[in-house]
Amino acid sequence: MKIREVISAIVDLFYPRLCVVCGTALTSSEKHICPSCIASIPRTNFHTGLRNIAEESFAGKAHAKSVYSWFFHSHDSEFAKLIYNFKYRGSYNLAEYLGEMYAKELLADNITLNFDYIIPVPLHSKRKKSRGYNQSFYIAKGISNVFGGVVREDILLRKSETESQTKKMRFDRWENIKDAFETTPTALDEMEKEILIVDDVTTTGATIAACIISLREGGYKNISVLTLAYANK
Ligand SMILES: [Zn+2]
Repeated sequence: MKIREVISAIVDLFYPRLCVVCGTALTSSEKHICPSCIASIPRTNFHTGLRNIAEESFAGKAHAKSVYSWFFHSHDSEFAKLIYNFKYRGSYNLAEYLGEMYAKELLADNITLNFDYIIPVPLHSKRKKSRGYNQSFYIAKGISNVFGGVVREDILLRKSETESQTKKMRFDRWENIKDAFETTPTALDEMEKEILIVDDVTTTGATIAACIISLREGGYKNISVLTLAYANK
């Protein structure tokens, strides 16, 4: 047992771990979220054949083979705390846990994600430095824990520093992001590899579209997308 784990076990004794959504104390077998909140996650159920508005968000700019997105996100939803906790409060293990949970739910619905490479959307180097990690890497790791596939951070790279996306209007976002990525050119025998791009939340789809375009320029043909959440407003 690592020192960090011993400390966290001791801390648990005095300060019970709480559900990140509703604040209820968790039992020792529960992690991060209580069963009642898990049941209430506002799932998109796109994978069941419902109209996939996450896919439509970038369909005019780039094409993906399949698009997966677990739940609807909005800033006033209590489930926004899930995103907030792994983005701004250091809970990278929550990001991995949520990636795993989503993968297990897909598996339970007989959907298998057979991807050779799972590629997290890279952060700006400045932001990665201030946060200390890329949350999408941990979501990708969670997916890989369930389905296999190699998490690769060396294929899709962030080229330029772009301004914060949230401050941009829809049109500006695209102008701002469309050339932000570059792909290490693929060898011929890699072109057919199945690629899954992973991000935390998609809103306009601009970031995802830019990633797909870059990977295609690099020679990859089979590209799918998974985001933990889709923000439809
Ligand atoms: Zn709860």
